[in-house]
Amino acid sequence: MKNYSLETKCVQAGYTPKNGEPREMPIYQSTTFKYDTSEDMGKLFDLEASGYFYSRLQNPTCDYVAAKICELEGGSAAMLTSSGQAANFFAIFNIANCGDHIISSASIYGGTFNLFNVTMKKMGIDFTFVSPEATEEEIQAAFKPNTKAIFGETIANPTLHVLDIEKFARVAHKNGVPLIIDNTFPTPIFCRPFEWGADIVTHATTKYMDGHASTIGGCIVDSGKFDWLAHKEKYPGLTTPDDSYHGIVYAEKFGKEGAYITKATAQLMRDFGCTQSPQSAYYINLGLESLHVRMPKHAENALKVAEFLKNDSRVEWVIFPGLKGDKYYDLAQKYMPNGTCGVVSFGVKGGRAAAEKFMKNLRLAAIETHVADARTCVLHPANATHRQLSDEQLKAAGISPNLIRFSCGIESAEDLIKDIDNALKSIEE
Ligand SMILES: *Cc1c(COP(=O)(O)O)cnc(C)c1O
Repeated sequence: MKNYSLETKCVQAGYTPKNGEPREMPIYQSTTFKYDTSEDMGKLFDLEASGYFYSRLQNPTCDYVAAKICELEGGSAAMLTSSGQAANFFAIFNIANCGDHIISSASIYGGTFNLFNVTMKKMGIDFTFVSPEATEEEIQAAFKPNTKAIFGETIANPTLHVLDIEKFARVAHKNGVPLIIDNTFPTPIFCRPFEWGADIVTHATTKYMDGHASTIGGCIVDSGKFDWLAHKEKYPGLTTPDDSYHGIVYAEKFGKEGAYITKATAQLMRDFGCTQSPQSAYYINLGLESLHVRMPKHAENALKVAEFLKNDSRVEWVIFPGLKGDKYYDLAQKYMPNGTCGVVSFGVKGGRAAAEKFMKNLRLAAIETHVADARTCVLHPANATHRQLSDEQLKAAGISPNLIRFSCGIESAEDLIKDIDNALKSIEE
């Protein structure tokens, strides 16, 4: 499907039935696969032949969906994981061991920040967090001899900061390490980080790709461009023999295009088992089939909502990278000229109490710990994810007590604005 447009790939890439096969992607609901001889199966265990033997490592349904996301991102290989968290963990743990160091943007998803700053630190992997606005010199200053990758989010959840991907890629490559980008918010419909120099892309398919709040999932895509053998001493996991597969050297046997994902599948998935289920992969594929139709509607609704909020005297501030005048508007125009995402954040005048009243009086937007759903959802972090913090602590965390995170669905923008307008009116009553 390489020569087709993104729209066509959303609908038809991945599973392509041959003569007489099911039109709809089959769910291979099987833990295991049958072979005629032990020798046949032995070749799979030695990574001498490709094929399926146990669904903890690979399953055809999951591979169809991974192949579709791979085509959308323009990568060389991809794999599904059980969640976005698992995707980001594997993406880094595949090339970093105890004693290694990673540079990450400080503006990232809270779950990822905890994974890096608490859990992976306990595993002996050290992180330095830099501002997404850091200069090349500042990023360079964070490098250590044991640095193995740079990590960032195209549009950060929930701060909505936009990453200058080319700048971070330049510094990464100057130091011989890959740039890993979590592209969950814009999806490949609005941004394809490989075109800007990123080497590995991750996704929480949980968000827009599924798009219906039905299925937790993740994906890792490799661009196939990073030359592991050229930095042999830095990546021994890819460039020296793996004893658990009779001394295979991934980078030699599978090349630039296949080494990274083969190792993550054959080694990390085998050992950690953060596998996506074929049933769940099927749901994700249903979401992907309409991704190119939904994303522009999410972005259009968010822009209309952001413009309404910007011009409303009851609102203190608005952040949306697609809005003219936003701090990140120019960067968003460069990397995502056709749209950014559906999430807008804003502060109502009157502080925490006003925000609470606003939340109580929404009718259409539902209060949820979620974003990127076809149905509009909304969160008041000071009263939900961050409710244990005092107003002073909230400020230190960059979250004001009146912050509302509003994830625009694909309903009518006019209805969403009416809902917001009514809830704002209630503050004054
Ligand atoms: C939600 C999210 C994740 C984590 O995904 P889960 O599927 O919830 O584990 C990672 N990165 C970003 C940007 C997210 O929004």
